[in-house]
Amino acid sequence: MTHEIVDNMGATGPDTPGRAPWALVDRPDLVPLCPHCDRQLHEVYRRGTGFPVGQGRTLVYFCPHCSKVLGFAQGRVF
Ligand SMILES: [Zn+2]
Repeated sequence: MTHEIVDNMGATGPDTPGRAPWALVDRPDLVPLCPHCDRQLHEVYRRGTGFPVGQGRTLVYFCPHCSKVLGFAQGRVF
C-alpha cells in the first residue's frame, strides 16, 4: 500500500468521503470566461450526440459566442 498524501487544509469537512483534490467554492457572483474568445459565459450551450451507444450518451458543451467546445460530459442512463 503506497502512502497517500492527504491535503487537509481545513477546506473539507471531517465528514467528507474520501479526499478532495482541491477545495470547491461556490461563486455564483463570478461569470466564467470562454478560454477561446474570452467572452463572458452567461450561458453555455450543450448538445447531445443523440445515439445512445452502450451506456448513456455524450453531451458536448460549447460557447454560445464562438461555438468552440468547452468540454464533454458522459451521461450514463441505464
Ligand atoms: Zn467562446
